[in-house]
Order: sequence, then structure tokens, then C-alpha cells
Amino acid sequence: MTERKNIAIVGAGLVGSLLSLYLAKRGHKIDLYERRPDQRQFAEDGGRSINLALSDRGWRALRGIGIEEEVRQVAVPMHGRMMHDDKGNLSFLPYGKEGQFIYSVSRAGLTVALVNLAEKKENVKLHFNRQLTHLDVRINELQLRNRDTEEVERIKPDILFGADGAYSAVRSEMHKRELYDYSQSYLEYGYKELTIPPAAGGGWQLDKNALHIWPRGNYMMIALPNIDGSFTCTLFFPHKGPLSFESIKTETQLFAFFQNSFADAILLMPDLAQEYFANPVGSLVTIKCFPWSFEGKAMLIGDAAHAVVPFYGQGMNAGFEDITVLDQMLDNFTGDWRDLFERFERKRKPDADAIADLAVLNFIEMRDKVADPRFLLRKKIEAK
Ligand code: FAD
Repeated sequence: MTERKNIAIVGAGLVGSLLSLYLAKRGHKIDLYERRPDQRQFAEDGGRSINLALSDRGWRALRGIGIEEEVRQVAVPMHGRMMHDDKGNLSFLPYGKEGQFIYSVSRAGLTVALVNLAEKKENVKLHFNRQLTHLDVRINELQLRNRDTEEVERIKPDILFGADGAYSAVRSEMHKRELYDYSQSYLEYGYKELTIPPAAGGGWQLDKNALHIWPRGNYMMIALPNIDGSFTCTLFFPHKGPLSFESIKTETQLFAFFQNSFADAILLMPDLAQEYFANPVGSLVTIKCFPWSFEGKAMLIGDAAHAVVPFYGQGMNAGFEDITVLDQMLDNFTGDWRDLFERFERKRKPDADAIADLAVLNFIEMRDKVADPRFLLRKKIEAK
């Protein structure tokens, strides 16, 4: 049995809230700090994906805290990709062999389920509206701004986890130290979310058990099913250029573009113009860094350590797998956190780099090659 620690986790997103449950299981005292208000009371701010593809790596981590079945009840299975060509013809490409598939789940629903579970634990305390504004990594002292009162709180946990996402404040402080490797690279593409609402009489307007793709060479749109009958569509499109987010300024231009590129989808999108001009354009970044930890006191996890572009649907899944791996290592833990963190980051870094590179490559495959009949044939043969 190792010593119980006071652990602070910054970021109560998907990874931070799941991590709090795993660490609480081992008896540590956890304080979970989140910059935003409690999502259970306020609608989530736009701009992040409404639903996510959850695959084996993610399920394994949910199984470990016993909520796999609860989440499965509200997840929609996606058996493969459904391609929509520019004439509206459909072709289906299974994800794997019979019975192998991934699921679409609500980001907000999953986060709320995890936060609800964390709240029930005696040794987890949730702090919303608390933003990490300064960290002295040498002594592990954090300054957190209370966004309600503007007061600044100082804390000094034994151990700190930075689960504060791609633009991590914990990582920026580590970054200031010597010998810190860091790279960030943006795609020239952004994304915008749109909706295909449920059918008038209820139910889904497209095949609900598929991830729909409209590959168009230089850009694409995808749609993932939601449990309420709607689909969340994501348009991946260049930021700048002759046909880009920058170039489409009027409803006439928007409708002409959709009519030309996504003629079958536009018929199902009554709020297209309103959503297109109201919703923000998100950016797509890959972030690599090393080390992820500092002297056994602080550790990055999830997107804070390895933000990837979404084309493999593996960002959250990889963050969840971080937790499964850390938990396995804690089974044989001797009490030396520095050794634990250094072994963990050495083990996870190659996998994180691999998925980051694969995700960028998969963008080319999704937007371009899936439209090629030779590619479809090869994938169908591989799936047999
Ligand atoms: P985040 O979800 O970013 O959570 C970080 C939390 O930290 C947030 O709640 C934030 O408010 C908080 N925070 C930030 N800074 C501070 C601070 N200074 N102080 C306190 N709190 C702070 N992944 C998949 O597995 N499947 C998918 O299908 C998929 N689709 C995606 C589609 C899109 C368009 C995008 C952009 C991403 C997608 N991802 C997907 C990736 C996935 O969203 C991320 O990998 C995942 O959200 C990472 O979780 P996280 O908890 O590490 O970070």
C-alpha cells in the first residue's frame, strides 16, 4: 500500500474527470479544478465536437470504472463509413469484420456522466470556475483564479496532473524549463459544425449505423449520428483560398457551394445558413512535447501531452488509454512518483506520436482516396 497523496488535477474535461475516478479508487485525495462553469447547469459553449467516436481503447477505460454499460445505452454503433459521391450515390465500407464497430457518443453526455460519478466520491472535490493562471513547477505551487469572485487561491498539492487540453497552462509552464521539446503544427484546414435534424416523424434521416462522409478531394464533410435522431456534421474546409471559409461570405455563395458539393445533404439541412454563419471555425492542431512530467511532481495527460487532429477519431480514446496504462503501472507502484512518471511517458510517447502522424495521413485518405473506387475495392477485400 503506497502513501495517500493530495493530488490536484487541472481540467475536468473527458480525461481529467475520468482520471479523478481512477486515482480516487486508490484512496488519494483529489481536487479537480475546471476553468469553465459546471456543464450540468450551463449549456456547453460551441466550437467543440458535439459527438465523438468511441472505440476499444476508450471502452476499456470506461469498463475499468464500471460505466461501460451505462454509456453503451446512449451510444450509437457505427458499423462503417457510408460514402456519398457528388451524384448522391452511396457506398458502404465496413470498419472491420462482422461485429466490429465503433460508437458515436455525446461529448457533453459523457463528460457529465464522469463528473456525476466523481462528485459521488468522498475523496474527490470539484472546483468549477477555477482557472490555473500561474504555476511554479519547481515547488508545485499553483495560482487559481476564481472566475466568480476574481479571488486568487494558492495551492501546493503533492502531485499535479495537467489534463487541461491542447492549450495546456500546465504545459506552458513546463515549457519554460531548459531541454523541453515542443512542436505545434496547424493544418491549413479548419472545421465548422452543422446539423441534420431528426426526421419530421422522429428517427434518423440517414442510415444511423454509419459514419457518413462526403469526400471531395480538397475538402470533405462528415456526419455522426446522435441518439436523438439528429446527425452532427463537420465540414473540414480550407481556412483561406478561392474555395474556403474565407471565400464564402453570403447565403447565395453558401447555397451554391452546398448544392454543387453536397446536393443530397443540403436537402436535409433546413438551418444550414443560420448555423453556418453563427458557428465558429475551429482550428486543427497537432502538439508534440517531451517530457510530459516534471521531477515526479507534475504530469501531463490527454490532449495536454499529445493533441492530435481528429481524423482517426482517437484523441479522447488515446487520452483514456493514458489512464488505463497509468492505472496498470500503479498496480505495481513502489511509491516513487518520479520513476513512475518517467516510465509512463517513455511508454506512451511513441504511441502518441504514431497516432498523431496517422491522424494527419487519414485526413488525406478520408477527403480524397475514399472517393476512389480502387481504394474502396482494396478496403473491402482487406475487411474479408
Ligand atoms: P479537453 O477535452 O480539451 O479538456 C480540457 C479541460 O481543461 C477543459 O474542460 C478546459 O476547460 C479545462 N482547462 C483548460 N485550461 C484550463 C486552465 N487554465 N485552468 C483550469 N481548467 C482548464 N477524439 C476521439 O477520441 N474521437 C473523436 O471522434 C473525436 N472527434 C473530434 C472532433 C473534433 C472536431 C475535435 C476538435 C476533436 C475530436 N476528438 C476526438 C479529440 C477529443 O476532443 C480530445 O482528444 C479530448 O477532448 C481530449 O480530452 P482532454 O480532457 O485531454 O482535453
